[in-house]
Amino acid sequence: MPNSRWRTTTPGRRYRRKTLIGALEAGLDGERCAEAVRALEDAQRRGALGRITDESEKNFIRKSIISGHHSILEHASASFRILGASRAFTHQLVRHRLASYSQQSQRYVDEAGFNFILPPEILKNSEALALYRGFMNQAAETYASLRKLGMKKEDARFVLPNALESQIVFSANFRELRTIFNLRLARSAQWEIRRVCLLMLKILQAEAPSVFGDYVINEEDQTAASVLSKVT
Ligand SMILES: Cc1cc2nc3c(=O)[nH]c(=O)nc-3n(C[C@H](O)[C@H](O)[C@H](O)COP(=O)(O)OP(=O)(O)OC[C@H]3O[C@@H](n4cnc5c(N)ncnc54)[C@H](O)[C@@H]3O)c2cc1C
Repeated sequence: MPNSRWRTTTPGRRYRRKTLIGALEAGLDGERCAEAVRALEDAQRRGALGRITDESEKNFIRKSIISGHHSILEHASASFRILGASRAFTHQLVRHRLASYSQQSQRYVDEAGFNFILPPEILKNSEALALYRGFMNQAAETYASLRKLGMKKEDARFVLPNALESQIVFSANFRELRTIFNLRLARSAQWEIRRVCLLMLKILQAEAPSVFGDYVINEEDQTAASVLSKVT
């Protein structure tokens, strides 16, 4: 039997894994991140390192974003391990080409008894929920039957649903992360990628406020928007 889940995520720092629910771990070190941001300012304003303050750093990044000098944001990056999100979500994420990914393989991992993600709207409707669960069971049974018939995992996986829980490790520089947030935290983006991006944004706002502090979060509709110009 497959299991349903939507686990919201708990930001955890790399070397101190807080896993209350534990679906997203950030491979990002606060000190290294601050260092990288300061190095950006020093690189641009040669010899400034000794004179950099929190305020000068914030103003420097702010001006660079507004004026379109976005390439300086490419020197710092973050990695996230995302658990408990669907294959539909990962398919959307990997469309962002300037990031790096490593995803759980369906050729090597047996997906018998897979977990699946339940969209909140389906959860609210008992009739839709019964239909949805029935289909997940059927997909799981068909997958198991194909495997029993000697079919390889790489062939049996063709019956697996988009809802299936996957795991992905994702790394991107700050410029690309801002591009992703601009696109995927808009109201028009899908709920699941919005949720995951919001969790990533919150981690980055804590770790690198001078680069991500300009995003204003709307918790009610799980969106966020930059008050500065968009990064392209
Ligand atoms: C709300 C929403 C709905 C969507 N619906 C669909 C859909 O129905 N069907 C579908 O196929 N996709 C859909 N997408 C995905 C969308 O088309 C993009 O593939 C995805 O958002 C990645 O955007 P990007 O290419 O701008 O960014 P990235 O791949 O993250 O690249 C970042 C930036 O780098 C630059 N760049 C990257 N590669 C190139 C290149 N080869 N040439 C020139 N510049 C480059 C661009 O400036 C780009 O914005 C949707 C996206 C969103 C946000």
